[in-house]
Amino acid sequence: MSTNYLTSDSPTSQVPSSSLNLEQATILIIERARQLVNRLVVQRGHEKPPFLPEEFAPLQGIKKFVKADLGELSAVLLRFHDGYVIKVNEKHQPSRQNFSCAHEIGHALLSELKIELCIEDVEFRTFNPQAPAIARARAKERLCNVAAAELLMPEMVFKKYLSDFGVSINSIEWLANIFRVSIRAAAFRIAEVSAEPCIALLWLSRPGTKSKALHLSRRVGPGKKSRGGANYMPVHALIKRKSTLYKAYQYDNPVKCHKLFRLDAGVKRLPVESKGFGYGETRYVISLAFPTRWSKAKY
Ligand SMILES: [Zn+2]
Repeated sequence: MSTNYLTSDSPTSQVPSSSLNLEQATILIIERARQLVNRLVVQRGHEKPPFLPEEFAPLQGIKKFVKADLGELSAVLLRFHDGYVIKVNEKHQPSRQNFSCAHEIGHALLSELKIELCIEDVEFRTFNPQAPAIARARAKERLCNVAAAELLMPEMVFKKYLSDFGVSINSIEWLANIFRVSIRAAAFRIAEVSAEPCIALLWLSRPGTKSKALHLSRRVGPGKKSRGGANYMPVHALIKRKSTLYKAYQYDNPVKCHKLFRLDAGVKRLPVESKGFGYGETRYVISLAFPTRWSKAKY
């Protein structure tokens, strides 16, 4: 979770020029991020990854990056009269620092847009009067993550590399290395931009609990309005120790199996590829599921 100071969150810093819902705002922020990528590509004369925050900085009025001990924070954006300074948590992995800095550049882009988010959450509002403000703050953070993904892994470039490597659990590490992003960021980006519908799932163990199982932590993939056309959710949000998928957590080799996914109208069995990453308490499993892949023997 990143925090930004003195930027778009400051009530005096902006006069909303228009009111947008989250979907419209997402389209707009992606557009702005792409413009920034295009300017960088023109300036350096090629579109070869990685796309690093340091390269975008001079194009977006960012004077410098400072590595500092920020405790729980990932990064902060500070605005001065002559530009921005981004402070980033020196204790985090370089790939995570890249994403945190790109997220803060997202705040700078969002601040420029001067939009007021229109969050429709009437029911929630009844119980908690603060809810609209909280929902707006969360929505802004999500928009900055969307911008960060587009800056570090521009869709058109990422797609080219993805088609070269193939949509597979084995491509995640290659793509993460090439684009200098985390394994998780690369996996979620695959699910977002893959021409073939693909769902990325993140499974975590819960340290300190006695149950030896993996819990579903995040799902990224085709939503109702996107290319996949359906909102697939795993029927079971828990992976028990005896299951095939759990072997991905125990060993380093990728694992292939099937899992049940809930659709609007029923349940479908999808082929799933999974792999474990990290060590000890921070170990996790990423799965990729393929709604349109039909395979009997391979999985
Ligand atoms: Zn933020």
